[in-house]
Amino acid sequence: MLDIQILRNDFPILSRTVHDKSLVYFDNAATTQKPQSVVEQIRKAYYDANANVHRGVHFLSQQATEAHENARRAVQQFIHAEHPHEIIFTRGTTEAINLVASSFAEIAFTEGDEVILSAMEHHSNIVPWQLQMARRGIRLRIIPVNELGEMDLDAYHAFFSPRTRLVAVTHVSNVLGTINPVQSMIAEAHAHDVPVLVDGAQAVPHLPVDVQALDADFYAFSAHKVYGPTGIGILYGKEKYLDLLPPYQGGGEMIAAVSFEHTTFNELPYKFEAGTPDYIGSTAFATALDYVSRIGLDSIAEHETDLLRYATDSLSAISGIRIFGQAPHKSAVLSFLLPNIHPYDAGLLLDRFGIAVRTGHHCAQPLMQHLGIEGTVRASFAFYNTKTEIDIFLQALLQVQTILQ
Ligand code: PLP
Repeated sequence: MLDIQILRNDFPILSRTVHDKSLVYFDNAATTQKPQSVVEQIRKAYYDANANVHRGVHFLSQQATEAHENARRAVQQFIHAEHPHEIIFTRGTTEAINLVASSFAEIAFTEGDEVILSAMEHHSNIVPWQLQMARRGIRLRIIPVNELGEMDLDAYHAFFSPRTRLVAVTHVSNVLGTINPVQSMIAEAHAHDVPVLVDGAQAVPHLPVDVQALDADFYAFSAHKVYGPTGIGILYGKEKYLDLLPPYQGGGEMIAAVSFEHTTFNELPYKFEAGTPDYIGSTAFATALDYVSRIGLDSIAEHETDLLRYATDSLSAISGIRIFGQAPHKSAVLSFLLPNIHPYDAGLLLDRFGIAVRTGHHCAQPLMQHLGIEGTVRASFAFYNTKTEIDIFLQALLQVQTILQ
């Protein structure tokens, strides 16, 4: 059992007030709060070990390089990748997916080729592929979502054809919370010799991820959603694919030698890391992963599942509420609509009670179209949330109903 009250002390922001009310932070799917150790690591890295990495012979540069490369190893171990050079530092999930879409397209896509996505993808895993529709004439096949909020695996099965080049699906939906059966989906794609990219942005903060057990070919996530700093994330790629893919961007760091006639590219992972990397962020990223590992993802998942169950039961008592995403295998996201109340109005009023939730389409407009709605209110939980906060939330929602109906 986690001692949540003790853990909450690691997050100074959780004890602040908003509009004179104690903050209830239920917007964790957008970004998580940061423990003191992560912020302290940023301070320490700037004050004690700030020097540009990789090229310096001097002491500080070597120290910074070692810390940055240790951070890469920390990510490798966290997601159980085989090699550290299979971890590419990016600005986040979005850049990681764009990297694959852009570089994979160069070697693999011709007109009429197909990429399989699902109806529950975040815009980050839609628009990069749409750019390739425009540039290379590829087609997208979209796995429908059933009324529980699960992918229709029969449709997925039927989509494979000799033109299928890639599957790109989310591990956990940021709107519905559905934990998708990516392991079996990957096995099926591999039976057709098709590689799979998994968007892990909403999975890594909530469940243990083992990219080798999943047999994922590419896996992307962002540090800021797993208690780490903003502006950094990773792309995991199997060595065999990263070796094949051309660089995504050109510049320093990603080259071995440059002349005006010819450039040879650096080895993995640097081939994909043009320019000065976020070597401060990477070390704070590693601190965040260490922090999460010490708590234990199994304990985190257990507590969050308990919170989700409690919140779902509590909110279900509200007459006429519609909850979107009822999959049995679900992570700590609760999207809903109160009868005759626009989500934006509900969000604004909840804010006056000190409660931070997200409202709108959650960067998943195609899913909203599929559900026939404009948006939802989304409460998303982290391990530092409590049942008391859910009680406050329920009372606030009842008041919102009284005020707006
Ligand atoms: N994929 C999913 C499922 C997400 O929820 C998000 C962010 O909300 C992203 C991708 C994009 O992450 P980032 O903005 O950190 O690149």
